Amino acid sequence: MSDTLKGIAASDGVAVAKAYMLVQPDLSFNKKSVTDTDSELKRLDDALTQSVSELQVIRNKAAENLGEEEAQVFDAHMMVLSDPELIGQIKENIKTKAVNAESALKEVTDSFIVIFEGMEDNPYMQERAADIKDVTKRVLAHLLGVTLPNPAMINEQVIVVAHDLTPSDTAQLDGKFVQAFVTDVGGRTSHSAIMARSLEIPAIVGTREITQKVTAGQMLAVDGAAGVVIIEPTEDEISSFKEKKSVFVAQKIELEKLKNTETLTQDGVHFELAANIGTPKDLDGVINNGAEAIGLYRTEFLYMDSPDFPTEEAQFKAYKAVLEGMEGKPVVVRTMDIGGDKKLPYLTLPEEMNPFLGYRALRISLSDLGEGMFRTQLRALLRASVFGHLRIMFPMVATVGEFKNAKAIFDEEKAKLVAEKIDVADDIQLGIMIEIPAAAVLADKFAKHVDFFSIGTNDLIQYTMAADRMNEEVSYLYQPYNPSILRLIKHVIDSAHAEGKWAGMCGEMAGDQMAVPILVGLGLDEFSMSATSVLKTRSLMSRLDTKKMAELANKAVNDCDTLEEVVALVNEYVK
Ligand code: PEP
Ligand code: MG
Repeated sequence: MSDTLKGIAASDGVAVAKAYMLVQPDLSFNKKSVTDTDSELKRLDDALTQSVSELQVIRNKAAENLGEEEAQVFDAHMMVLSDPELIGQIKENIKTKAVNAESALKEVTDSFIVIFEGMEDNPYMQERAADIKDVTKRVLAHLLGVTLPNPAMINEQVIVVAHDLTPSDTAQLDGKFVQAFVTDVGGRTSHSAIMARSLEIPAIVGTREITQKVTAGQMLAVDGAAGVVIIEPTEDEISSFKEKKSVFVAQKIELEKLKNTETLTQDGVHFELAANIGTPKDLDGVINNGAEAIGLYRTEFLYMDSPDFPTEEAQFKAYKAVLEGMEGKPVVVRTMDIGGDKKLPYLTLPEEMNPFLGYRALRISLSDLGEGMFRTQLRALLRASVFGHLRIMFPMVATVGEFKNAKAIFDEEKAKLVAEKIDVADDIQLGIMIEIPAAAVLADKFAKHVDFFSIGTNDLIQYTMAADRMNEEVSYLYQPYNPSILRLIKHVIDSAHAEGKWAGMCGEMAGDQMAVPILVGLGLDEFSMSATSVLKTRSLMSRLDTKKMAELANKAVNDCDTLEEVVALVNEYVK
């Protein structure tokens, strides 16, 4: 009998394949005394050899998929395994203390890690500590005979099952093989869900118990749009999922006809439909889905994909590639939004009780720790600005003062480049994300200083409703159509317009088919979304009349008490 689990629909699409468990195995062991130390030394040597050949394969695969620079981290791991001091010490311990290989390995590597981690002002040694930790896990897994999962190594059609996926795990998933993923935790706007949509991988998050219910190799059927996963589906269920899949594919082909058409409402009003990207590689999706601009380039992925702070040159190349790829169409680049769920292995941030309310994004950029990184990024952006139509925005702005400080740094870097006789564009608009309620409420004041707003509803909703966007337990409070959110959005749009500025939205709500009619009615100027939502939004807009939508929006904002009432209203206005 099949078993059905329901989760949060994170990325559309249908898949049927066997489960790949991306779950950390149990690496616990007991310390034991041994009499035959030679056989322990042999077990260690075998585990070391197996680890090296495994790392060699991973390294080659990383070089192929992610580039030579990303692959170098595995060279560092292999170097650890051939370090005579470290390995010699482990062997010595096996011989002199007559203990099993597992405990000798752990004892010696732990002592190295403690020493290296203690060198707080030496980032190089701290990275070595991280390498040793990683390698120890691999060798230990071989000693214990268990397999460490590695998303980059998947080479057959599977559905990935995980407790959680970090943005960097998700980045490693190869859409050729990974047919879908399902997790225990997460929300629709957690970054792994957002990335699944740009990678066009069906996904369900927040099922709470998928990792408990499924074992490796079991067949799964996933409907990403409905948020439903069936474990061990029957023949009938498999054929019904295959049927759903062909309907999904047929709809996609139908929508593709709109790729090169203008975005116009039924009464002929144009709205800008833009796409969100995380890396220059996402440009293909933007172009294939006929987006008119890039409304959000999340540059932090450039930092997350790099083994160290990306240099000005590396950033310049990435920004130039995106600007050139868009051939003069606008590209809104957001300065780094590190922190929250986006961590950098090479930047040690303080432990925080509430990372989403903590030291992140512009707060890091304007602090002593981050100002240098921020200036490097701005210089790279300014240098790239002559290759296309660049706009820059700052994330997580709470006060007008923060915007002014960021702008002052931008002006300084621009002046320096001009003095160095380096070409920079003179028409770069500077805007802010509206994702903190304080900025939304004070939008009328902000509008006097900025060139544009981009409403980041993923965060704005979590902060307004006090409901963590990553937490499936409170996902019922994650309510884009709650009148409280709609009122904030209306105020932001009206405030921008009163000062002759434009307002866009780059949170997931911009591509939400239930929200689009209301946003059209509120007069939002630019809609930026996962590239895969662009064509269905273009299709929806062609069926909307702006005057009717203005009436709908007015009622939703003024007359409704609840999200349910708003949904009923939209269903009444949009058939
Ligand atoms: C947002 O908060 O709506 C947003 C677009 O930014 P991110 O999802 O990267 O936090
Ligand atoms: Mg945000």
